[in-house]
Amino acid sequence: MELKTKFNIGDKVATIQNFSEEVFKTCLTCEGSGKIQVKDKEFNCPDCYGNGGKEEWETKKWNISNDKGILTGYDKVIKIDIDISKNEIKIRYILGYRYSESYCGTLWSEDEVFGSIEEAQLECDRRNKELGIL
Ligand SMILES: [Zn+2]
Repeated sequence: MELKTKFNIGDKVATIQNFSEEVFKTCLTCEGSGKIQVKDKEFNCPDCYGNGGKEEWETKKWNISNDKGILTGYDKVIKIDIDISKNEIKIRYILGYRYSESYCGTLWSEDEVFGSIEEAQLECDRRNKELGIL
């Protein structure tokens, strides 16, 4: 098997991250009341269990996440983690510092890692446009 990775050990990269937040989504079944009426009886809504809705994670915006990292040195590939299973190959990069045998860094999947701030920004713009933010 021959594997190609986007980056090599020692490469300087830029990463992107989506900043999400939990938002309360009103239940469509009971329109937020938490109750449903069947004939003359009232029951807890089976979709929201009487809560009137639920917290859901919503993607807010893609941003370059390590522009500060470039100043502090957390932008260097120090380890490449490859996970091969039957259906997919997952390539992840550990960015940060290496102290002899130990690593100090953060783990990123390949689709979040780019060769320059400019490329990373282009991808943020593309993804934000897809989300309807731009
Ligand atoms: Zn409901």
